[in-house]
Amino acid sequence: MSTSPLDAWITDDDEIASLLHQDWDRQTTTVQLIASENFASPSVLAATGSILTNKYSEGYPGRRYYGGNQVVDEVEDLARRRLTALFGADHANVQPHCGANANVAVYEALLNAGDTILAMRLDQGGHLTHGSPASITSKFWKFVSYGVTPRSDDPEKPGEIIDFDNVRALAHEHRPKLIVAGATAYAREIDPVPFREIADEVGALLMFDSAHVAGLIAGGSHPDPVPYADVVTFTTHKTLRGPRGGAIICREEFAKKIDSAVFPGQQGGPLEHVIAAKAVAFKEASQPSFSIYTQQVVANCKAFGRALASEGFRLVSGGTDNHMLLLDLRDFDAELTGKVAQEVLDRAGITTNRNTIPDDPRSAFITSGLRVGTAAETTAGMKEKEFETIASFMARALRHRDDDLALAAVRHEVAALCADFNPYSNFTK
Ligand SMILES: *Cc1c(COP(=O)(O)O)cnc(C)c1O
Repeated sequence: MSTSPLDAWITDDDEIASLLHQDWDRQTTTVQLIASENFASPSVLAATGSILTNKYSEGYPGRRYYGGNQVVDEVEDLARRRLTALFGADHANVQPHCGANANVAVYEALLNAGDTILAMRLDQGGHLTHGSPASITSKFWKFVSYGVTPRSDDPEKPGEIIDFDNVRALAHEHRPKLIVAGATAYAREIDPVPFREIADEVGALLMFDSAHVAGLIAGGSHPDPVPYADVVTFTTHKTLRGPRGGAIICREEFAKKIDSAVFPGQQGGPLEHVIAAKAVAFKEASQPSFSIYTQQVVANCKAFGRALASEGFRLVSGGTDNHMLLLDLRDFDAELTGKVAQEVLDRAGITTNRNTIPDDPRSAFITSGLRVGTAAETTAGMKEKEFETIASFMARALRHRDDDLALAAVRHEVAALCADFNPYSNFTK
């Protein structure tokens, strides 16, 4: 096995050490195309693995329920200052353990149980916390869902984009207290302006769930929702490239309510080691190099999309404006499901996830779609050319999906490509 950054750390637990080494090998010899994943920097990893994990600090800087928080207060204050500066926001809460917690805390802060929320349909790109029957959100609040426009094969007028006529009609009919913009499987820009207009027409608050695109916003590669939304939630581990976690920024008038909803409303002691790592990531994201990174992420994704289209995959919405692509597999091969494609690509060393596409005739477990993204491998240094190569690997693997030798050959070529793009090469040298 190759040397990993873990070598110096785990010395007394062979079983976990061995499993971490196995995943180090997986992460560095196969291609990571999950749109919600990234490679956090060595500094982010180090802060996440730091001694701050030892500290209890329920409360907020200056108002803790435990002693000994002088240093932790500075860590959390620094994280909050860096975050408000990064997005030009009034107030930041860096304690949510994940993006789902951030969303639920906002609902809890701004709404009463039973209030109506207008959010994106799950099977057309929305997230579980946007009202899935499987999510606790649907038990406490009433959800109404908007969708995307019908499929169009006219390149001048792409379909499968957010249907603002539908958003407006539903908003006027149901008078939601909160409108949620933002998606988990949507390759197009989400314009905050029409969402704000519609929210104002019906007196609703606007939350922008930027879990996926927060890094692109920070880097200037996606429209900025902060001037338009009352609250913006996000994860810190997707395009923002920090530790696994969530965060909330909001207008000053909601600061108190948001803070109380996170703690004590929903969570206990904050993960201050992760908050330190979030602070590191916010600093990284404020550098000019991060902006160049996000531009490359989008350029790579556009090139990846063109290459996949020329292999016969249909791109949902006709293309991409961000870090992800949603592929309709039926044009490539009517028999091929998302589930089978994901499994075959796994065997070929290409990590993806199956995903429903708008009006998918197959179930959410089987699906007709596949979601891929460029955020992680762009961090590892890949450019347009490498993503074009990956598109050809994907097509080859899926065309020869019953041929073990062909899949092994692709896996071998994938490993050779990954050897030149180790995200931690600076770390191991
Ligand atoms: C990923 C995601 C979340 C949830 O983030 P977790 O950290 O997995 O809880 C919420 N909303 C959207 C739109 C997402 O894509």
